[in-house]
Amino acid sequence: MTPARTRIAALTGVAALLAGSASALSGIALSDPASAQPDPGTLSLQEDAAPDIPVEAVVAHLDELQSIADANGGNRSTGQRGYEASVDYVQAQLDAAGFVTEVQSFSTRAGTSYNLIADWPGGDTTSTVMMGGHLDSVDEGPGINDNGTGSAAILTTALAFAEANPAPANHVRFGFWGAEELGLLGSTHYVDSLSATQVDDLAAYFNFDMLGSPNPGYFVYDDDANGTALRDSLTALYDEAGIESDHIDVDGRSDHAAFMQRDIPTAGTFSGAEGQMTSAQAAKWGGQAGSAFDPCYHAACDDIDNVDTAALDLNTDLIADTLWAWADHDFDGGPTSVH
Ligand SMILES: [Zn+2]
Repeated sequence: MTPARTRIAALTGVAALLAGSASALSGIALSDPASAQPDPGTLSLQEDAAPDIPVEAVVAHLDELQSIADANGGNRSTGQRGYEASVDYVQAQLDAAGFVTEVQSFSTRAGTSYNLIADWPGGDTTSTVMMGGHLDSVDEGPGINDNGTGSAAILTTALAFAEANPAPANHVRFGFWGAEELGLLGSTHYVDSLSATQVDDLAAYFNFDMLGSPNPGYFVYDDDANGTALRDSLTALYDEAGIESDHIDVDGRSDHAAFMQRDIPTAGTFSGAEGQMTSAQAAKWGGQAGSAFDPCYHAACDDIDNVDTAALDLNTDLIADTLWAWADHDFDGGPTSVH
């Protein structure tokens, strides 16, 4: 999550939906499209096939990211060896699992940075489902909650997906972004590198940035008018897990912003950064009212001990459920009423 002061401008102006994706996204298999409250039991059949991913597998990747930081001056930030080692580590895992990976380099004021893109072969590329999160840390620390957690949760889910060896209806792609902490530079570079057709082919983008905050909140992004169907599916999954999530306007503070600005439907989850938990949130989530969700946000203490593994576990299973459901989602489904 990037500081509020460096966020790029929130979506303004062009709100025109691509007609195809608008009607298709509203076709997600909720029990009653006209209802404001989706029935969490009927999100999709495919979701039920998603594995329950052990959090220990996610933590094992976090341990690796911590070790990388420890060996490289205490961080994994843009322009530093710790970031390159992080990219190498994730790429090796994905390559071994059968993904087709590509490293995209770009220049920043802190040096060269890299995006790692991983495609699962097959599926309809004109309805590509993408998930991503940033892999870089700030200079001040190892960046384990921000955003080792999102990176490791996506990586673990991707490896489980490969293990299942699926043939999804839609093409599936993962993005691990560089230089988010410098102002969303990697994801912006990636989206800018796409042709208009390639933008059209992206049917959905899910972003995961900070998933194991030590005083965890359970937030679903609510800053993209095109992303309502994605938002509601994430909300329904929290409901299924017995979590009463809050919608949050993250105000374009993470890597979904560049996608959102090109009218690609986006949503994501977030366990909170420097903001303080309210008493109402503490009552339903069991946390500490008046304390920051992550007191170590952008600090040296954002290390391997700065993770609530229960929140990370829940969010990882949510990512898996989301991937399994949307990888087979029928984006060409019949017209339904949006409102
Ligand atoms: Zn951050």
